Amino acid sequence: MNNFAIGVDLGGTNLRIAAVDGQGTLLEKVTLGTKVSLGRDHVIDDMCQAIEHVLEKYRASATVMGIGIGVPGIIDMQSGLLRESPNLPGWADYPVRAEIEQRLKTVVILENDANVAALGEKWLGAARDFDHMAMLTLGTGVGGGLIQNGAIWHGANGMAGEFGHTTVEPEGHPCGCGNRGCLEQYASATAIVRMAKEELANDSGSSLARVAHSDAEFSSKSLYNLAIQGDEEARRIFRRVGRCLGIVLSSMVNSLNLPIYVIGGGVSGAWEAFSPSIFEELRQRSMVYAATAPPDPLANGQGASSQVEPGSGRKTIITRALLGSDAGLYGAARLPMIPEGKR
Ligand SMILES: [Zn+2]
Repeated sequence: MNNFAIGVDLGGTNLRIAAVDGQGTLLEKVTLGTKVSLGRDHVIDDMCQAIEHVLEKYRASATVMGIGIGVPGIIDMQSGLLRESPNLPGWADYPVRAEIEQRLKTVVILENDANVAALGEKWLGAARDFDHMAMLTLGTGVGGGLIQNGAIWHGANGMAGEFGHTTVEPEGHPCGCGNRGCLEQYASATAIVRMAKEELANDSGSSLARVAHSDAEFSSKSLYNLAIQGDEEARRIFRRVGRCLGIVLSSMVNSLNLPIYVIGGGVSGAWEAFSPSIFEELRQRSMVYAATAPPDPLANGQGASSQVEPGSGRKTIITRALLGSDAGLYGAARLPMIPEGKR
């Protein structure tokens, strides 16, 4: 091992830190709670202490390339300011990068959390053999990331890739972004639970109601369990998730013509329940997909791409992510390894 970098996943709930070497081997992973309620300075203190601890351990035997931090929110790439983050109240316009650089005396790169997840899947995951890719991260919200020639595509202001806020229902559910009917309102874990509750309001005697009574969290995971057991109402909810994803992916395929689109985040664990509807929509709505679809995307390990041969014809691959919740950690660690002009 000659060099390594630190990747940080700064979420609203968990603060995770990893040391990863230049080949992508995970050296160490630390998970702390993000004590958001104790304030910004407390979280920064916790983060710097944990990073220092990891740095000390490996510094003697290898060179530190820098620290990459994935943050939920809008980042000003030039100044390293966190412009706005709904999950980190009180952090708006705080110079996160400068503060941590000064404390730890090493290069710090701040990046949107969905962008680093895409970079992680491109480096070591489902899209590792492709130069261009897009990723949708289905978690509490729906994040998006776009990779062109191995680098994150930022657009003019660093805000590119907000696929979660494209409209799928013109008069649909209001979204936190100010729009109505965003993909996020139909394909996030939050949305799945909301849609189940809407169903419940119509039919309180259903099996969804029984789940509501037996499972305090009434989580999207318990709904998925219901769906795979064949419960029709739960299956209908996941079909809607897949349909909305398919509508957005159709537009993405038509406008971007990328070789691979990766679906990650916690909700992607329900792939079996929603992915058939994605492919159904894609075939109907995207002429580019219809012309480039693999023979049967669901037949081969549910579309899992480890078996996808790169360059095997001009195909459009839609597949689930491979790195799970670590995609963002690997992607964050990757940031300081990429030369500045190509990042
Ligand atoms: Zn929105």
